[in-house]
Amino acid sequence: MIIDGKAIASDIEKELISKTQELNSSIGIVSGEDKGALSYLKSIEKVAERVGIKVEKKILNKDNTTEDAIESLLSLDTDGILVLRPLPETIDERKLIESIPVNKDIDCLHPENLGRLFLGKTLFYPCTPLAVIEILKRTGVEIKGKDVVIIGRSNIVGKPLCCMLLEKGIDATVTVCHTKTKDLSGHARRADILIAACGKPKFITSSMVKNGAIVIDVGINVVDGKIVGDVDFEDVKNVASMITPVPNGVGPVTTRMLLLNVIKAVDGRGRIYATHKDNWV
Ligand code: NAD
Repeated sequence: MIIDGKAIASDIEKELISKTQELNSSIGIVSGEDKGALSYLKSIEKVAERVGIKVEKKILNKDNTTEDAIESLLSLDTDGILVLRPLPETIDERKLIESIPVNKDIDCLHPENLGRLFLGKTLFYPCTPLAVIEILKRTGVEIKGKDVVIIGRSNIVGKPLCCMLLEKGIDATVTVCHTKTKDLSGHARRADILIAACGKPKFITSSMVKNGAIVIDVGINVVDGKIVGDVDFEDVKNVASMITPVPNGVGPVTTRMLLLNVIKAVDGRGRIYATHKDNWV
């Protein structure tokens, strides 16, 4: 079965619309001029407009210093704040991220929220890992006790996803593979659920996938002007019982998770935190 990320995203969007009415919510986005970041920004703007969330943006360039960037970010009077990367080289990404107010940090970038994520008590879950879990839940996949193998250990996908899948209530057994993993294919072949997030086009082939496994492709790579995932879709779809395509898999769900976090930020105006355990996801 091919998992229809667009349809899942559309369902979530309807739920978002029912929640945004009368909330008067807003998202602030700080970005550089990177093409990929600007195209993600554009897609956020489109969906935000449809669901009734206001967008305020600050676009930075190489003439801007870290201090300019922090000033721009702090001038955003919005419920949630997102920093898109890569930023211009003149800006210290770490310092900028650490200036995000933790109660507005809707992609869980701030070290305090990442620390809380590790403890299972974060204000916000990062959108891409959240999208992966949401897709599994909405397709009726039982995660509890399953062997999940993640290919990629980045701070924005692999590592937080590992923490989230280990949480009580989700209860997966998780293996994280990376560039120095010995026998990566052997690990991958043991997976009930295989998650590709290594940024290598068509890296996962059918010989690395157990018959009947569920394959989630987080990758977004541009090859010859076309977007392809980290999974060789045509090859793997015959082996996997379920598989996300690229495009129209994880990507559209990620955008909706971001906007869901904006609503959580509004909800959290008077509260300490909201987690996915309190029936949002
Ligand atoms: P990254 O480059 O920061 O990290 C990639 C990770 O994969 C690293 O930990 C590295 O060790 C591992 N890796 C790289 N090559 C490998 C190999 N040959 N074998 C094993 N491990 C290897 O990437 P990222 O930011 O985590 O993003 C991963 C992919 O997901 C990219 O294609 C990116 O564009 C995409 N992405 C998609 C979304 C979404 O919403 N769909 C969001 C973020 C990133």
